[in-house]
Amino acid sequence: MKTDVLIIGGGLSGLAAAVKLSQKGVKKITLVEASGKLGGRAYSFVHKETGDVIDNGQHVLVGAYKNTLEYLDIIGTRKFLSVQKNPHINFWSKEKGFSTFEIGKGKVFSSLRFKGLSLKSKLELKKVEKFFQKFPSNENEIQKLTVDEWLNSLHQSTEAKKNFWYPIAISVMNELPEKASALLFARSLKASFFSGEEDSSILISIIGQTELYVDGAVKLLKESGVEISLNNEVISFGEQNGKISKARFQSGEEIEANYFISCVPYFALERIIENSTLEKNQFLYLKEFQSSPIISIYFWFDKEIIEQEMLGVCGKNIQWIFNRNKIFQSTNTNHYCVSIVISAAYHLIEKPKEAIEKICFDDLREIFPNINSAKLNHSLIIKEKRATFSASPTLEAYRPNSKTKTENLFLAGDWINTGLPATIEGAIESGFKISKIF
Ligand SMILES: Cc1cc2nc3c(=O)[nH]c(=O)nc-3n(C[C@H](O)[C@H](O)[C@H](O)COP(=O)(O)OP(=O)(O)OC[C@H]3O[C@@H](n4cnc5c(N)ncnc54)[C@H](O)[C@@H]3O)c2cc1C
Repeated sequence: MKTDVLIIGGGLSGLAAAVKLSQKGVKKITLVEASGKLGGRAYSFVHKETGDVIDNGQHVLVGAYKNTLEYLDIIGTRKFLSVQKNPHINFWSKEKGFSTFEIGKGKVFSSLRFKGLSLKSKLELKKVEKFFQKFPSNENEIQKLTVDEWLNSLHQSTEAKKNFWYPIAISVMNELPEKASALLFARSLKASFFSGEEDSSILISIIGQTELYVDGAVKLLKESGVEISLNNEVISFGEQNGKISKARFQSGEEIEANYFISCVPYFALERIIENSTLEKNQFLYLKEFQSSPIISIYFWFDKEIIEQEMLGVCGKNIQWIFNRNKIFQSTNTNHYCVSIVISAAYHLIEKPKEAIEKICFDDLREIFPNINSAKLNHSLIIKEKRATFSASPTLEAYRPNSKTKTENLFLAGDWINTGLPATIEGAIESGFKISKIF
């Protein structure tokens, strides 16, 4: 078989590349995906016992995700995002109980009303605000720092770190503060917290991720004549005159193409390169990448136990709690579903599911003692061991650009040089960028 453009990987970067290229009028695009579904690391499925549509992990977007919003506009599903009216974050900590942090019009730390921190810690937040007055011209000051080192350099108190910065940083970066890149965290904060009110709004899908990101894209791509092939894993490239001539598949099939767009994670590209005769030195950077895990836990109760839509938890194993009945469009009123996310879950990922469930349930009970009068009907634990790449300060120098030394091979994906941590926005932006090459 022969095509013009072969897109390898049907995650959000691959779908975004296909959508933009087909919009541009590029003919003969083929998208191949190793698994039986599209969407990659952002997907949903029906939970058998309850019939609920659930995600492989609750994803949260912010108004600053401009490429993502454009993608959803193109495929017609932006209307399924619920947009927070007055940008705010709810927190819980053992010391202060429940509190709400209001993010107001780019003056993020001007509110002293926040009850989650002592006055002294709140005043110290101003030092971070001051840092952002010069950002990004002071980017080089924090290039080599971890999030923790950066917060220390800005004299943030232990209380401010534990009860404010860490829950935000760990979820934005999917990495521990002592390992995560300060620069990428600062860029993410600048784009959301320190921009307009619209950019700092939290956006949550009211439908499953597959419906949000995949179904509309598939319809559009099929109408444009894009070939989509599932359960079709690329295992190696064939080479001719220094260019890639074909992709070989697990099934024994081969597809020839003029252009090859890799939209697979770093570890999958490494496997393909190892099996190919391509000059390997140009891909040595792949060895520098490591992954960071995320655990998602779903609990179904017979009654509502949580009022808030979303809650950041400080100083516990569980980090963020989502009230699925409040968030989701079609909710089952026979039961109440709570989802919990633990990012950078290194300390839990190898534990048996029963042990993780107990740890999370105990945390939840401490925050919501009314859980004692509710019946737990079902639970589900989803471990994503390689949820994202680990965004450390040293890794930035190794993240590759879209263009490679092999003339007709291009890269997209959340892990390439997007200037962002591993996010949906990075994945979609990298896919969109591919269209500029054509
Ligand atoms: C639990 C969880 C929670 C997250 N939460 C958030 C969040 O709140 N906000 C946010 O912005 N981001 C979040 N992310 C990150 C976000 O999901 C990813 O950054 C994004 O989906 C990555 O898209 P991608 O296209 O780069 O890669 P992928 O989604 O990994 O897509 C790559 C695709 O390539 C396929 N593939 C691999 N090898 C081959 C091969 N040899 N041949 C053919 N196909 C192949 C794979 O099967 C996969 O479908 C989260 C991730 C996880 C796992």
